Amino acid sequence: MSARVLVVDDILPNVKLLEAKLASEYYDVLTATSGPEALECVKSDSPDIILLDVMMPGMDGFEVCKVIKSDPDYAHIPVVMVTALTDASDRVRGLEAGADDFLSKPLNDTALMARVRSLVRLKMTVDEWRARENTANQLGVSDETPNAMNEPVENAKVLVVEDMEFEHDKIISTLAQDNDDVVIVDSGAEAMEKVTQDEYDLLVVSLNLESEDGLRLCSHLRSSERTRSIPILMVAEDGDMSRIAHGLEIGTHDYILRPIDSNELLARVRTQVRRKRFQDRLRSSYEVSLSMALTDPLTGLYNRRYFEVHLQKMMQQAKRNNKEMSLLIMDIDHFKAVNDTYGHGVGDEVLKEFADRVQEKLRSFDLVARFGGEEFVAILPDVNERMAHIVAERLRSAFANEPIKCSAPDGQINVTVSVGGTLIAADSEASIEDLLKSADDALYEAKENGRNVCYFEDYGRLDPDKYKPQPRMFIED
Ligand code: GH3
Ligand code: MG
Ligand code: MG
Repeated sequence: MSARVLVVDDILPNVKLLEAKLASEYYDVLTATSGPEALECVKSDSPDIILLDVMMPGMDGFEVCKVIKSDPDYAHIPVVMVTALTDASDRVRGLEAGADDFLSKPLNDTALMARVRSLVRLKMTVDEWRARENTANQLGVSDETPNAMNEPVENAKVLVVEDMEFEHDKIISTLAQDNDDVVIVDSGAEAMEKVTQDEYDLLVVSLNLESEDGLRLCSHLRSSERTRSIPILMVAEDGDMSRIAHGLEIGTHDYILRPIDSNELLARVRTQVRRKRFQDRLRSSYEVSLSMALTDPLTGLYNRRYFEVHLQKMMQQAKRNNKEMSLLIMDIDHFKAVNDTYGHGVGDEVLKEFADRVQEKLRSFDLVARFGGEEFVAILPDVNERMAHIVAERLRSAFANEPIKCSAPDGQINVTVSVGGTLIAADSEASIEDLLKSADDALYEAKENGRNVCYFEDYGRLDPDKYKPQPRMFIED
């Protein structure tokens, strides 16, 4: 996976060293030797990850990080602080400035590459969601620009797998500062049970469990459907570096070394919780946007855009299965008069009730869409001519015989509908446009010939008497 890495350090040999290491792993490397230069580069070259030196004259790494993380256009770019400082308070300062990680000089190559790879992978995922969100924006169905740093970090639900009892109190009291709900278990089996019972924001897994392999548990958590999207923070010892690298490789998000420093733990937990919530929000707002882009808000029916794509698919399926289909267009008669007489509000109620009733009269796999205004279409898969006629008549009579309840003065309105239909042969090569035109021509005939009637292409008017439900016959002996 190639990605663009920005290396920022005021000492040129440091820059060159990192550049060489990263280039040998096929990353594209950009460089900057000061804070302002780094910010310029972020703007002009949109890197996928930033390795940022802390100690620089003028604008230091903390400041640079803060600027990047406060800009909604760049806040999602992972920042790794690189420093000679080993003081835990500096790590915490970095994480609080929004840094996603911290690496100490001299750099351990395994840790460096594992970190870069894991953060780049994460960035790709977020980029994907941002792109979809962007499409949603363009469709005019979403208007927020989400910022990863704005996500709340408190009240997270955290599951900890740790069998060293002396660590329990420290973890609980540390995370209590954020009012997190912490559940501690000491085996993978218990962990798997807990995750089926509750939704967790973060999993903290020890790689030093007495009776099992914590790494194997991480791998299991990454591949199981239920836990796949929950971030994992590994707890390990200094000597575990190659296992940590392996853990990051298989998709865990971060690690912390023992002895656990409380502030560092809190900061790393916050980062993961914030990121999880950000990703969740992008995903859910995308889903809402998607449904808004494909459905009609008034009736909840699919819109024309969805209908056209779906009809194409259904036609391919019908061809494979050698089944006929039918397409109906329904248009409420003199609907303008409803609006003019009772107002637009009542008109809307009628449209909603109309949509509900049409759906009620069709099979669950028939597809109904609102084409706009008071025009609706239905696709009926797997019907022959006679069945299509029966359905069209059933829809027409469903309105002709029963008024629509609404807030008009009488509490109801009589509404009728005209239906135009066409059959789609199993091997039809007609375009969606052609099919719609055929049904629309039939509808036009229905309107011309008195309304409250069904017409089919190549068939003409349906005689309601032919399709009346048969009265029950009682044979007396
Ligand atoms: P016809 O029998 O020939 O179909 O006559 P009509 O009055 O139903 O048809 P026309 O196309 O002249 O008028 C349709 C009306 O539907 C006009 C428009 O204001 C109204 N309309 C379209 N969309 C909506 C909507 O979302 N809500 C309401 N209340 N009215 C709508
Ligand atoms: Mg109409
Ligand atoms: Mg109309």
